[in-house]
Amino acid sequence: MTRPTTPVADTDGPASSPLDDAKAQLADAVEFLNLDAGTHQMLATPRKEVTVSVPLRRDDGSMELCLGHRVQHNISRGPAKGGIRYSGSVNLDEVRALAMWMTWKCALLDLPYGGAKGGVAITPENYSERELERLTRRYTSELIPILGPGKDVPAPDMGTNEQTMAWIMDTYSVSIGYTVPGVVTGKPVDLGGSQGRAAATSRGVVYSVLNAMEALDLDPVGSSAVVQGFGKVGRGTARFLHDAGVKVLAVSDVHGAVRNDAGIDVPALESHVDAEGTVVGFPGADPTQAGEIFSVPCDVAVPAAVEGVITAETAPSVQARLVVEAANGPTTPAADAVLADRDVLVVPDILANGGGVVVSYFEWVQGNQAYWWTEEEVNDRLRTRMNKAWAEVTTFARDHDLSLRTAATTMAVKRVAEAHDSRGLYP
Ligand code: GLU
Repeated sequence: MTRPTTPVADTDGPASSPLDDAKAQLADAVEFLNLDAGTHQMLATPRKEVTVSVPLRRDDGSMELCLGHRVQHNISRGPAKGGIRYSGSVNLDEVRALAMWMTWKCALLDLPYGGAKGGVAITPENYSERELERLTRRYTSELIPILGPGKDVPAPDMGTNEQTMAWIMDTYSVSIGYTVPGVVTGKPVDLGGSQGRAAATSRGVVYSVLNAMEALDLDPVGSSAVVQGFGKVGRGTARFLHDAGVKVLAVSDVHGAVRNDAGIDVPALESHVDAEGTVVGFPGADPTQAGEIFSVPCDVAVPAAVEGVITAETAPSVQARLVVEAANGPTTPAADAVLADRDVLVVPDILANGGGVVVSYFEWVQGNQAYWWTEEEVNDRLRTRMNKAWAEVTTFARDHDLSLRTAATTMAVKRVAEAHDSRGLYP
C-alpha cells in the first residue's frame, strides 16, 4: 500500500491547527482508499489561492489596510463553492482548511461543486455598516477574475450575511455589465435568494440530531442538549431542538453562557438576545462558565461556533452521548480518538452541517431555471438529501468498521478522486 507522503498531525500539540486536522482526516481516507502519493498530494493542496490587500476608507477618513483570501481547494466536480468569513482569527491556513472541508462536504452531499472558502481578517463588530459595505465591495472587486456562477460561488459564513452577499452580487454585476444573481448564494429572497436558505444549516443539523437519536434509540421528546455558540447556526439549532421537544440545558456565546437544568425557554432567550446582543443576563437561566458548557450532563452536545473547541484536553469532560458538529472542524483528531474510546458518537461537520450548502445549491438551481420553489418544497428536498447522506454514511461506516467521520471523509474523497480520474490529467 502506498503511504501518505503529506506530513500530518497525530496528536494535538500546541501546533495543532485546523489545517493539520483537515490533513490528518484526509490522510485517514487516503490510507483506507489506498490512493497513490501524487493523488494524495493533489487532494491536500488547493488548486488556487488568492490573497489580496483590501484598503478600507474608515468613516473618520483614515485608511486601514485589511487582508483578504479566497482559496479554491478543488474544482474536479464543478465550480468552487463555499462561504466568506469575516473574523479576527482569519488566516490563510484556516481558509485552506475550511476550503478543503467544503470540497468533502459538497462531494458527500452529491452537489456538483468543488470546494472553496474566503475570509477577511477583521472583527466585523468594530466596523460600521458603511465600512463593511466598502470593505466587501473592494474585496469583491479584487476577486472578480476568479468568481462567477460557473467558476466560484461564495455564500455567507461567520461574520457575513445576506446583505454581504447582495453587495458582492451587485459589485460583480456592475463590473461585468449585467446582473448575475448566480455569482453568490445566501442572497436576500427579493434578489433571488431561496426560501429556507437562512435557516437551512440549523435545520440540517437538527435533522442529523434526530437521525442519530433514532439510531441510539433516544426519544427526542424529553432528551437534552447543550449548544455552544448562539450565532446564526447555534441560535437556529437551539430553536429547532426546542421545537422538536429536546430540552436545551445550556447555551453559550462569545460573551458567556447560561444554564437551566429544567430546559431553557429558547424563544424567550432569542427575544433577550435580540434586545441585549448576548445570552448573558437572560433571566430564565443561571450564568455559567462558557468554557465548561460541554461538561453539562446531557444527551447531545452541539458545537456551533469555531474550529478546535473539543480537544484531547477537553474531550474527557464531554458528558453527552452524541456530539453533532454544527461548526466546521470543532473536534480535533486526538479528541475524536478520546470520544470514540468513551463511546460518544460524533456526527461529523461535513455531514451534520451540510444543510446550508445544500440549500445554496437549491438557490443556484432555482436561479438558473428562474423558477422558485416554496419553503415547504425546499425543506422537504433538504430533508431527503440529509437523510440519504445519513443512510449512506452510516452504512459505509458499519460495513467497514469506521467512525462516521472517517466514513464520511472517505466517501467524499473517493468521489473527488474518481472525478479527477475520469477527467484525466491535462496535458
Ligand atoms: N459557509 C457555509 C458552510 O460552511 C455554507 C457554504 C455555502 O453555502 O456555499 O457550509
